[in-house]
Amino acid sequence: MLDLTFETPKPKVISGAKEDWELVIGLEVHAQVSSKAKLFSGASTEFGAEPNSNVAFVDAAMPGMLPVINEFCVAQAVKTGLGLKAAINLRSAFDRKNYFYPDLPQGYQISQLYHPIVGEGEVIVDIGPGIARRVRIERIHLEQDAGKSIHDLDPTMSFVDLNRTGVALMEIVSRPDIRGPEEAAAYVVKLRQILRYLGTCDGNMQNGNLRADVNVSVCRPGDYEKYQATQDFSHLGTRCEIKNMNSMRFIQQAIEFEARRQIAIIEDGGKVVQETRLYDPDKGETRSMRSKEEAHDYRYFPCPDLLPLEIEQDWVDGIAKSMPELPDAKKARFVNDYGMTEYDANVLTAEVENAAFFEAVAKGRDGKQAANWVINELFGRLNKEGHAIAESPISAAQLGGVLDLMAKGEISGKMAKDLFEILWTEGGDPAEVAAKHGMKQVTDTGAIEAAVDEVIAANPAQVEKARANPKLAGWFVGQVLKATGGKANPATVNELVAKKLGL
Ligand code: ADP
Ligand code: MG
Repeated sequence: MLDLTFETPKPKVISGAKEDWELVIGLEVHAQVSSKAKLFSGASTEFGAEPNSNVAFVDAAMPGMLPVINEFCVAQAVKTGLGLKAAINLRSAFDRKNYFYPDLPQGYQISQLYHPIVGEGEVIVDIGPGIARRVRIERIHLEQDAGKSIHDLDPTMSFVDLNRTGVALMEIVSRPDIRGPEEAAAYVVKLRQILRYLGTCDGNMQNGNLRADVNVSVCRPGDYEKYQATQDFSHLGTRCEIKNMNSMRFIQQAIEFEARRQIAIIEDGGKVVQETRLYDPDKGETRSMRSKEEAHDYRYFPCPDLLPLEIEQDWVDGIAKSMPELPDAKKARFVNDYGMTEYDANVLTAEVENAAFFEAVAKGRDGKQAANWVINELFGRLNKEGHAIAESPISAAQLGGVLDLMAKGEISGKMAKDLFEILWTEGGDPAEVAAKHGMKQVTDTGAIEAAVDEVIAANPAQVEKARANPKLAGWFVGQVLKATGGKANPATVNELVAKKLGL
C-alpha cells in the first residue's frame, strides 16, 4: 500500500498593530450517533417527526423511569474511536451534568466526564496535496442531547419539542492542535468524512447532527512549540469558546474575527477573559454569552442509575474486523491502483458514495480514463445541476457502457460526449442509443484510405506545403474527418495521412 506522506503546514500568522500572532484552536464536535433508537430509550430518532411524538417515558423524565443503555450506540462510539485510531476504554462510566433548562426534563444531562469510552486518537487533516496536519483527539464521550425550545411561534408562550431529548451524541474533543481558520474547517470536513465512511454519524450539519464548539486563543510565535514540548498550557493564551457552529464558512469567519478581537485586547494592554461567545453571522462578530464567573457549576457526579459500562476486548475486536475502508486508505489505494493523482483521488474519495460509483465504473476498465470521465463529465454535470450522486440520471453501468464503446473503437471521444448527453436526458442502453443515433466510428482502413486519397488528389498545392512543413498535415486530417462526417477514427486518419504524404 502506498503511503501518502505529508508535510506539516505553517500556522496562520495575523499581524496586529504591534506584533505578529499565531492562532491556536481546539474543537469540541458534537456528532449525533446514527442509530434508530435513543441512547437510553427505545424511542425513535427520526428527524422531522411530529413534535413530541418520539418521546419515551424515560426521555420525558417521568418519575421512576430508569435509563437502559443502547448497545448499538455504544458500538457506534467504539467504531468511531477505532476509526480515529483511538484507545478504547473497556471500562467507562456515566455522570450527571446538572443544569436547569426547559428542554431538559431530567434537570441533568447524562454524559461521561471522568471516564469517557474513547481516549486518545488522531485525525489527519488534509490541507492540500502532500500537506496535512496531525490533530490529536483527546477523548470521545457519549452523552444525551437535549430537546428544543421554540420561542418564535407565539408572542406570549414558548413551546418545547422533546423529540431530540435523549438522542445519543458523541462529543469528540480535539487537542489545541489546529492552527488557522482554514485548518479548522478542514478538520471538520475530514472528521465528518470519516464519520460518514464509518456510518456512525450522517454529518448533516443543517439539521444540527454535527456541530462544533470552537476554542480560540492567540500566542506569540514560538510559544506553541514550547507548549508542544511540555504540554504545559501556560505557554498558550487564554481561550474563548464559540458555541454551536454548524457551517464551515461561519467557523472560519468566527475564528478570524475572534483572533483579531483578542489581539487588539492584548496589544492594548488588556487581558482576554475566558468566556463562552456566540457568533452572529449577520454582523460577522462574536459576542459574549457568559463569562467564566457566570459559568454553570454543573455539580457533576456519577449517575446512580447506570452501572459503569464494561465492554469486552473480543467485542471491540469484532467491531474492528467490520471496519470499512477509511478515506486515507482509499485515497492511497486509488493513487496506487489506478495511477491517478492525489488531487483526483481526493475528489473521488470526498464522499463515500462517489468513491463507490467510481469503482463501479472503473472495474475491469482503464482506471485513469474512468476517473477522468467521472470527475469531469459526471461530477461537472451533477454540480451544474445541483444533484448528489444518488440522483445521477446516469448509472455507473451506463457510464461504463460508454467507456466500453470507446475502448472498442466503436465511438470516438467526441461521440462519447454526445452519447453521454443523450443518456443524461433520455436514458437507455449505451450501445442501443449509439446505434439508434448512427454513432459509429469508421475504423475500416479501406474506406478511410479512399477518403485520404481523394483529399490528397484534390489539393496538390497543400501536399507540397505539407511535405515541406509536416505540421500542416493536420489540415488533411481535418478535411478527411469532415469528408467522413466525423465518423472516421482520428488515430487511423492521422496515421494514414502521414503515410500517404510520406512524412
Ligand atoms: P473545558 O473542560 O473547559 O471544556 P477542555 O480542557 O476540555 O476545557 O478544553 C476544551 C477544548 O478547548 C479542547 O478542544 C481543547 O483543545 C481546547 N483548548 C484548550 N486550551 C486552549 C487554548 N489555549 N487555545 C485554544 N484551544 C484550547
Ligand atoms: Mg470540554
